Amino acid sequence: MCKMKILVLNCGSSSLKYQLFDMKGEEVLAKGLVERIGISGSRVKHTKGESSTVHEPDIQDHAQAIKIVLELLTGPDTGVIGDLSEITAVGHRVVHGGEKNTKSVLISQDVVKGIEECIPLAPLHNPANLMGIRAMQEILPGVPNVAAFDTAFHQTMPQEAYIYGVPFEYYEKDKVRRYSFHGTSHQFVSSRAAEILGKSIESIKIITCHLGNGSSLAAVDRGKSVDSSLGMGTSCGILMGTRCGDVDASVLLHLLEQGNSPSELSDILHKKSGLLGISGVSSDLRDVETAAAKGDKRAKLACDILYRSIKKYIAAYAAVMGGVDAIVFTAGIGENSDVTRKAATEGLEFMGVKIDDAKNDGLRGKEAVISADDSKVTVLVIPTNEELVIARDTQRLAK
Ligand code: AMP
Repeated sequence: MCKMKILVLNCGSSSLKYQLFDMKGEEVLAKGLVERIGISGSRVKHTKGESSTVHEPDIQDHAQAIKIVLELLTGPDTGVIGDLSEITAVGHRVVHGGEKNTKSVLISQDVVKGIEECIPLAPLHNPANLMGIRAMQEILPGVPNVAAFDTAFHQTMPQEAYIYGVPFEYYEKDKVRRYSFHGTSHQFVSSRAAEILGKSIESIKIITCHLGNGSSLAAVDRGKSVDSSLGMGTSCGILMGTRCGDVDASVLLHLLEQGNSPSELSDILHKKSGLLGISGVSSDLRDVETAAAKGDKRAKLACDILYRSIKKYIAAYAAVMGGVDAIVFTAGIGENSDVTRKAATEGLEFMGVKIDDAKNDGLRGKEAVISADDSKVTVLVIPTNEELVIARDTQRLAK
């Protein structure tokens, strides 16, 4: 069993990310990204060890993309396995599992039906995830497929964290509630933080800050998510690259009354807001921080709003849990931006958070403790690894 080779797939609407793991040693044998599926100019970047190759075949759909990936994995130059029978199971990232799916599951007809039922809650993502599952079932019949849901880890949230202040019937009838996302990442970095601290996860309170192009924070109380900043959808919480973060519903009503259609409104809130919308410079924090450092006022404002929004959630989640033992920064911004980590925790000394600049400054993409030795709260940077969580769950469930 320890010879298991697990393929992890993350299907977006026009993209596909993949990693092939040898679970003996949890080694990544090959990984890659297929872009522009069904759009002209399809492109596959395949990486084996240190070397990458780029291919530009015409790719019509996800089934064809997966066939090309499997050819690359077994090909004479690009391959890492002799033949497809070496793939023992496939793990799929599925964005929305609704209330039914509280952990990863072996995919059956019933599970597929459940994912279909969640399409209204994740209209862009779940159909793409299903395409990947169906293609895999067709191409490798008999090989078990596992679904790992972005929402599952947060299903432990209590009602007071997930019910919105709108009439309760909308929850009962339409399942309008907070679900939040990035669950595999919050789960991975919180359990890794406990390992680093040498403590049982059941004994500590952790705030995990997944800060990337999309971002969320989670309050992880003794191993369970008890609150998290994304909601029914992915536009709320802290400021993001192009998404607005928390805004008053009156703003949305105002924009609708001004004549924007629901799809235009969605475009404004998801694609034109956040760092990009405020700064007018870019959705990429690197560009915005560079512009701010050169004196661009709106870029500086966008950064300040981001830092403040993270700080507010950290303090709120410490209050929700009645304290905090560790704060973890992860994902593109959390792992790489020392400026963000410093600014988002500055002023939290009153609750025992003290960053050591010598440890924080310049730290990028590496696991480390960045708090001062006398900080009551340990602050850590932990690179996330959602694919590994999915591969581990797949190995466990496919046995
Ligand atoms: P992700 O979605 O996790 O890939 O994160 C992407 C975000 O990470 C981008 O928007 C970048 O702004 C941010 N990022 C990556 N490297 C840095 C860096 N060195 N400094 C600031 N932000 C960074």
